[in-house]
This record gives sequence, structure tokens and C-alpha cells, in this order.
Amino acid sequence: MRSLRLALDELRDAGLYRELRTVESAQGPRVRLDGRDVLLLCSNDYLGLAGDPRLRAAAAEAAERWGAGASASRLISGTMTPHLELERRLAEVKGTEAAVLFGSGYLANTGVISALAGPGEIVVSHARNHASIIDGCRLARAETKVYADLDELAHALEDRRPATVVTDAVFSMDGDVAPLTEIVELARRHGARVVVDEAHATGVIGPEGRGLVHALGLQREVIAIGTLGKALGSYGAFAACDGDTADFLVNRARTFIYSTALPPPSVGAALKALELMDRELVGRLHANARVLREALGAEASDMPIVPLLAGDPEMALARCAEALDRGVFVQAIRPPTVAPGTSRLRAVATAAHTETELREAARSISTCGAVHG
Ligand SMILES: *Cc1c(COP(=O)(O)O)cnc(C)c1O
Repeated sequence: MRSLRLALDELRDAGLYRELRTVESAQGPRVRLDGRDVLLLCSNDYLGLAGDPRLRAAAAEAAERWGAGASASRLISGTMTPHLELERRLAEVKGTEAAVLFGSGYLANTGVISALAGPGEIVVSHARNHASIIDGCRLARAETKVYADLDELAHALEDRRPATVVTDAVFSMDGDVAPLTEIVELARRHGARVVVDEAHATGVIGPEGRGLVHALGLQREVIAIGTLGKALGSYGAFAACDGDTADFLVNRARTFIYSTALPPPSVGAALKALELMDRELVGRLHANARVLREALGAEASDMPIVPLLAGDPEMALARCAEALDRGVFVQAIRPPTVAPGTSRLRAVATAAHTETELREAARSISTCGAVHG
């Protein structure tokens, strides 16, 4: 048996060893990190809701009324009134017939993909998709094909077997948006199903944050996965889809069937977040995204994720440490999260930052010598 200590030493030697840092305050634009006050520039709290007093109150109220936990899976005795209310609200916001809650985005992707893509079928997955999608493909009994662009997708779909195409709506480590209209058009031509992961699109894309699928009017053509843990400031996830698909997932998605239902406080907080997610709040996120991008010299857009390429993992770690010295926490992202040679800092603007904070943070990072990708 290979020693784990040896494996850890190898990771250290390659600059790929990972360590936990501790946030000693509630989440927000400024946090206490390992004993220091820093500006937080790498969370996915896009709308600044995780620490919002109104979400805290909603979670507390739900705990008072419904308890701390759901005590069983949804199909045993875990389905509670707030779960149905949240599923109804999510379907409304996403413009779909139905929505099905999952324990997390990781569980949603692994459960949905493995339920939909069976033996004798194929899953066609983008090369930069999130790890939970990759793991969903591994769990599915279909054969996986990986594509990097629309030509490769078209080629993969020449296969005669039934196909499911899976893509991130917004690629999580780059912040770019998938060409979803073209993907859906190709899939339609080949009779393939499309699953879109809106982890970084929900609360982020569209004037009201309804996501990429809704913005393009494709909600009847795809299954949209979303998380409650990022822009919505809570925990959990969902699939927004038509009624038959929802029914099928309830019957066949193993991560839905064999896992305890979401705790009521998380559900209460997510319901409150949907109430607060309006044009003004999402507009503030978009304005801040534009400020950060401009300050970092990135291409102009409303997307809050800005990758700052460093190349080597050691270089990314050094830049992260330098930024931290200057009071800005922007985490280094290294393989296998990103491809070898593309280690980076991943800067993220939220609605809760001030313009001044973003400009100062950008200055701190830029003088570390980082170059945007
Ligand atoms: C974070 C993330 C997930 C996982 O969602 P969780 O709710 O955090 O488990 C899935 N897909 C993408 C693209 C993500 O960035």
C-alpha cells in the first residue's frame, strides 16, 4: 500500500498541496481570516446574501417553526411544506413547470446525469465542466465523450446512440458564458437532451438573475441545475425542468432518493434570497463586476468572475500570499481544478463590495504582477 504521507509529499513538491483557511466571521465583503481582517475577493456570494440579516432571520424563523433537520429522505418522511414551497418558487423564477431540490449542486449533477444517461447511451460533456459534472459522467452507465468547442460537439453527436449534452452555463474558473443557443440548436438537430449547470448563472445572469437559460428563453428545452449555495446565500441545489423530468428524477436520481432532505433553515434562507433577488440587487452585482473588470484590465462585461493567470502552481500561490499581505484574499486555483499550466487567482466581485474596495483590491492584485487571462 502506498503511504499517504508519500502522496502528500508529492503534492507538496508539485506545489499542489492544499490547506484549509479559516474564516472567523460571517461571510461578507470583509471577513476575519486566520486572525486578520481582509477584503474577500474569492467567494461565490455574488449577491452578498450569505451574511445578510434578512437571510439570518429567515433561517432562524424556519428553525423555530420547522426544526433543525428534515430527519429522513424526501421519499420517506422528509418532504416538508417548505420544500414544496421552495420548489414552486424556483420553478416560477426559472420559468419551468417544476423544480426538484437536491442536497447540493454536487449531488444534483451526479444524480441528474447518472439518472438520465443509461447504458447504450452517450454523455457529451464540455472539457471545462465542473468536477461534479465529471463525476456524474463517471457514475452514469453511458459512455462519456468530451468536447472543447462546437465543432467537436457536432462531431460527437454524429453518434447514433441517444445523447445527453452537459455544459456549465458560466465556466466556473474562467467566468465565460457557454454558447447555449448553438448547443441547444445542435442538440435539437440530433435529438439530444441538454443539461445546463447554472451554478454561476443563477442570481448572476439576466436583469433579475434568473440565469442564462431563462435569459435565452430556453427553459422548455433544457434541464437547468442551480445551487442555493452561491448567489442565493444558503445551501442545497435544484433541477428546474418539465413535470415529467421532475417525476423521473424523484423516481430515479439516487442522490435525491438516498439522501436526507434539506434542513428547513437552509430552505427558509433560500426562499428569502429569492424574494430579495431583484433588479436593483442584481444590477449592483453587474455594476460591481464592470468596475472590477475595468480595474483589472479584463474585457468589459457584467460577469463577476475574473481569472488572473499565473501559470505555475507555485506562482499562483506566491501571488495569493502577496495579495494577502496587502489585505486581499483571492485564492489560488491549481490543477486538477484547472488544466496544468493555467494556475490562477480567481477574483470575484459581489453586490456587497463598494466601488472603492474593488478598485483598491484590484490595485493590490495588479501590483503583485498578475496578468489577466
Ligand atoms: C459550486 C459548483 C457546483 C457544486 O454546487 P454545490 O452546491 O456547492 O455543491 C456545481 N457546479 C458548478 C459549476 C459549481 O461551480
